[in-house]
Amino acid sequence: MKAVVYNGPRQVSVSNVPDARIEKPTDAVVRMTTTNICGSDLHMYEGRTNFETGRVFGHENLGQVIEVGAGVDRIKKGDWVCLPFNIGCGFCENCERGLTGYCLTCNPGTAGAAYGFAGMGPFQGGQAEALRVPYADFNCLSLPKDAQEKEDDYVMLSDIFPTGWHSTELAGVLPGETVAVYGAGPVGLMAAHSAIIKGASRVFVVDMHDDRLKLAELLGAIPVDMRRCDPVEEILGQTDGLGTDRGCECVGYQCCDRHGREVNNFTMNSLVATTKATGGIGVIGVFLPQDPGASDALAKQGKMAFDFGALWSKGQRIATGEANVKAYNRRLRDLIHVGKAKPSCIISHRLGLDQAPDAYKHFDARDEGWTKVVLKPAA
Ligand code: ZN
Ligand code: ZN
Repeated sequence: MKAVVYNGPRQVSVSNVPDARIEKPTDAVVRMTTTNICGSDLHMYEGRTNFETGRVFGHENLGQVIEVGAGVDRIKKGDWVCLPFNIGCGFCENCERGLTGYCLTCNPGTAGAAYGFAGMGPFQGGQAEALRVPYADFNCLSLPKDAQEKEDDYVMLSDIFPTGWHSTELAGVLPGETVAVYGAGPVGLMAAHSAIIKGASRVFVVDMHDDRLKLAELLGAIPVDMRRCDPVEEILGQTDGLGTDRGCECVGYQCCDRHGREVNNFTMNSLVATTKATGGIGVIGVFLPQDPGASDALAKQGKMAFDFGALWSKGQRIATGEANVKAYNRRLRDLIHVGKAKPSCIISHRLGLDQAPDAYKHFDARDEGWTKVVLKPAA
């Protein structure tokens, strides 16, 4: 089968790889019809992780089941399913508590497994014609009759919509509250969408790209263009100097200051400054325990100069970590089904698998207009 294969820093190709197949009786094989390129694929694409050459990218996957193992009961051939990017077993201590992002058995020795992801187990990604899904009964989210009609919405249940939602859960967003979201990439936009669905009164979205800020506005948020203003002054100015009730970090370790320079504490210290005393901060952007490719000495060791004194004196809370997709994906699916959520509104490009190398180039360069790429391997 054809798949998007990593060949080294900034080099991917569409190559032939062994067919996805049933390896354990609890597996299913899903024919991929929509699979997205994610911002976290770029971390690996840029060669700043230990992602192995020859492996297949792709953790945001949707398709139709073409084969199930002898031990699969619930899922049937022909079902339309969306796969959470984190792979859970369903029976370990963390999966039992709903913390499927930190499964203890799928990638022994580490908490957490995912498709086509550095450090998250040996699983191939779904930017391919087909995908092997372990523990299919547990991991497949079944889609309703409008699965194909709303495929571009449902595929966002694999990662960015639950991940954006999770940042608002970590921050503790309640109806009527004000929220600041740092980063208007796909996850930041989904965090804004989620906060608005939850009834936030005002949602500020900080970024420095016109296309992304425009989408934030389209979703009902207040864009804060950090090229034109200091986001901290701007948000404090618009909240009587108090700041917002909640803040969401949706950028991660490669965040930049107003001049586009990578400064890994920029978003975190801005959040401490623009969140109210006793407010909550949810950190969903990826930070790494080591980042040898960073230019800053602290960042190389996964550390940052953090305004801890300000955090402490303001009595703020921080919660972090990847989304446990299964904790939210059913309910978010139903919001899409009835038309109360429309995550596909951020898609800029729908391309065939063959166009993936070019798409990676543009998305990696943050070229204007390349906000979210979905690949259609079956087209
Ligand atoms: Zn993703
Ligand atoms: Zn588990």
